[in-house]
Amino acid sequence: MAKIAVVGSGISGISSAYYLSKKHEVDIFESSHRIGGHTHTVTVEDSNERGVSIDTGFIVFNEKNYQGFIEFLKELDVSYTDSDMSFSVKDDDNQFFFGSDFPKGLFAKKSHLIKPSFYKLLLGMHRFNNQCVSDSKTGMSDTVTLADYIVLNKISRNVVENYILPMTSAIWSVSFEQSLRFPMRSFIQFWMNHELLEIGGGLQWKTIGGGSKNYIDKAMPFISGKIFTNTKIQKIEQHNTSIRVLGETVDSPYDAVIVATHADDAKKLINTEFMLAYNLLDKWKYSINHAYLHTDARFMPPRKPAWCSWNLSKPPKGSFEKPTCVTYWMNRLQPLNTDDNFFLSLNPSVEVLPEKVKKKITYTHPIMTKSAMDTQTALKKINENERVVFCGSYFGHGFHEDAFQSGMNAVNCLENTLSDRGIK
Ligand SMILES: Cc1cc2nc3c(=O)[nH]c(=O)nc-3n(C[C@H](O)[C@H](O)[C@H](O)COP(=O)(O)OP(=O)(O)OC[C@H]3O[C@@H](n4cnc5c(N)ncnc54)[C@H](O)[C@@H]3O)c2cc1C
Repeated sequence: MAKIAVVGSGISGISSAYYLSKKHEVDIFESSHRIGGHTHTVTVEDSNERGVSIDTGFIVFNEKNYQGFIEFLKELDVSYTDSDMSFSVKDDDNQFFFGSDFPKGLFAKKSHLIKPSFYKLLLGMHRFNNQCVSDSKTGMSDTVTLADYIVLNKISRNVVENYILPMTSAIWSVSFEQSLRFPMRSFIQFWMNHELLEIGGGLQWKTIGGGSKNYIDKAMPFISGKIFTNTKIQKIEQHNTSIRVLGETVDSPYDAVIVATHADDAKKLINTEFMLAYNLLDKWKYSINHAYLHTDARFMPPRKPAWCSWNLSKPPKGSFEKPTCVTYWMNRLQPLNTDDNFFLSLNPSVEVLPEKVKKKITYTHPIMTKSAMDTQTALKKINENERVVFCGSYFGHGFHEDAFQSGMNAVNCLENTLSDRGIK
């Protein structure tokens, strides 16, 4: 039996700690006061003073692309229910808005019925999607960015600004400008896997009833060692016989360590001994997103038929480098036991009315540039034959299944290393 430390308690840390706990003694170190990282359900009061549990980080998944995570939920006996991934765009500069529900959302603004530019937008969306599907079959160079692709295919500004950039910046929590730097090959692969290129079709999305925190609560009793919250790890040192994990209140030897933090935090923990890992982790930058849970409906499209699960407010002209404001309508995403409307806005474009704010949280999200994504194969490779291994959503596209799979990669690599050293 080995003594293993897991640093970070998001899905990558929790899942690896859970599976390693079946054989080994596993301690978890978490800098925050709570376990879960981006899995963050909060309970707030509605106007009837009833508690409502709402997800403010990870919310939705699907059965096609989240198979590992779903197996984990089944093992923990956590049930899930249908969600909805409808999408709206509003542009306050031009009093323009639409929702993806047909016909009530698309034509929530009545003038769209007779506006040729709106029909051109719908046609352009359809053409862009078809073009991506056909280009996925012929292959594409690694160096082509979304911006290059837009220029090469002469995609109209109408489609770029009212469809492609809103969707991209909402999915990856980045600005319009950062979206343009996204590597096109990965972009198409992700959109195809998630059936985002099929207008009117698409996947049945799921959510955990009562909040995603439910799976964390079910997994925690199975962790074999101690759980340290409010414990920020500052250094990991490799010695001949052990790995030392160091923090203000910690100085403990372990046989192996899983670093399940974001790449930029992981980089701060290691010294020159881990030069290769350091250089790979160094390529990753993160966008800062301020999330407000609130009841201020001004962030939604002006007419209710256009209200969707995801609602993007276009940044004003000339500020495409600013973080994009996306508002989740939590009542449509989750089965909430309340008649009040709750919204989660990332990077609100105007101040949320203070009396309507229920909670404010800051999250960071990996920025998917080509130079960052180019490190992913090497990152998996450096986990082999090592006693300090890395995982997190940055091993994939930045989502929950990516983080889960990276945790499983870390577990497998560590099991092999330990067994080579005679530890079963
Ligand atoms: C608002 C929002 C909504 C999202 N919605 C979805 C969604 O619906 N579906 C989906 O698939 N994905 C979604 N994602 C993305 C997904 O939640 C994440 O990709 C995934 O959960 C990240 O898991 P992780 O284990 O890599 O990192 P995290 O969950 O961020 O965990 C890392 C942990 O490491 C801790 N840590 C950092 N440094 C240290 C240190 N020095 N010592 C100790 N602990 C440390 C942190 O406090 C944190 O708890 C969303 C993300 C956000 C922000």
